[in-house]
Amino acid sequence: MKRILVTGGAGFIGSHLCERLLNEGQEVICLDNYFTGSKKNILHLLHNKHFEMVRHDITTPYLAEVDEIYNLACPASPVHYQYNPIKTIKTSVMGAIHMLGLAKRTKAKILQASTSEVYGDPAVHPQPESYWGNVNCNGIRSCYDEGKRCAETLFMDYHRQNNVRIKIIRIFNTYGPRMHPNDGRVVSNFIVQALAGKDLTVYGDGRQTRSFQYVDDLVEAMVRMMAAPDDFTGPVNIGNPGEFTMLELAEQVIKLTQSTSKIIHLPLPADDPKQRRPDISLAKEKLNGWQPLIPLEEGLRRTIDYFKQELLTTQI
Ligand code: NAD
Ligand code: UDP
Repeated sequence: MKRILVTGGAGFIGSHLCERLLNEGQEVICLDNYFTGSKKNILHLLHNKHFEMVRHDITTPYLAEVDEIYNLACPASPVHYQYNPIKTIKTSVMGAIHMLGLAKRTKAKILQASTSEVYGDPAVHPQPESYWGNVNCNGIRSCYDEGKRCAETLFMDYHRQNNVRIKIIRIFNTYGPRMHPNDGRVVSNFIVQALAGKDLTVYGDGRQTRSFQYVDDLVEAMVRMMAAPDDFTGPVNIGNPGEFTMLELAEQVIKLTQSTSKIIHLPLPADDPKQRRPDISLAKEKLNGWQPLIPLEEGLRRTIDYFKQELLTTQI
């Protein structure tokens, strides 16, 4: 049995990862400051004697004896990471320093949840890992993009300088149950709006594209990446290459929820990337043929079912 630390473990992706690791018989320490995560996401795990919850902010050091670290702590929705941008960049940069320091001392393997945002508004399409990106360093998304880019730098430097065993994955837009209903990201926004009979808010003309990955496919890739040989550090793209415009997504959600909602257009936020699609050749090659298995329609159905239950039990 390994002792595994998951920072941001009470968040959307983190809660699925904790669940998966416990199912594999591992011991899990879930560390979170509950900024965007919630106890509700991990309530069903609290009875497990191999699960431990710690309220902690990773901008300050944390000490424990661990074998592996998954570093996910960081708000991921533009609305949340722009709420307190200085805190966001501190979380990425100081959080990475503290977790890398812990990995160095305990000789733990450490995986960083990086992001497709490191490519910014990409001029190369689809995006391979070799592309260095097109990022504005002083815009409203920079606290997140540059924080994550700097975290990647720190990971590589701790690896080169101190032989820390690192893993970097660049996660593309991921969705699924346990996204916060007021998270602000497009999939949860559209589903909640459609179920409530409200207008679906498409930003700009809706022709910008994203590639949406169901959370189970991501968690599978995370576990495979952690288990991959030490000489494969990444960065590696993890996403579903299916590419959709936001208008197509809105129409799909209306169809699947059988909603009478209409589509309205709101202004496009600054620096909103026009297109995004992962090149996942490297992941397929290095992670035993990993590829996403859940198509958008199936993933949306599962997520819609989750939000229907949420709407029944809570006031969103
Ligand atoms: P989320 O907001 O649901 O989860 C983030 C978690 O981190 C929350 O539980 C939050 O409370 C916690 N947190 C934030 N700041 C913290 C701090 N200073 N100390 C301790 N905990 C803190 O978002 P998510 O979608 O689950 O994202 C998880 C990770 O994956 C993030 O690092 C995000 O950047 C990365 N990622 C997600 C996506 C996606 O599409 N969901 C895409 C790319 C990268
Ligand atoms: N978006 C939208 N309506 C919403 C929320 C988001 O049209 O209610 C758009 C947003 O402008 C972006 C895309 O959907 O082009 C994805 O946004 P999200 O915040 O989910 O993630 P991003 O990939 O931009 O970080």
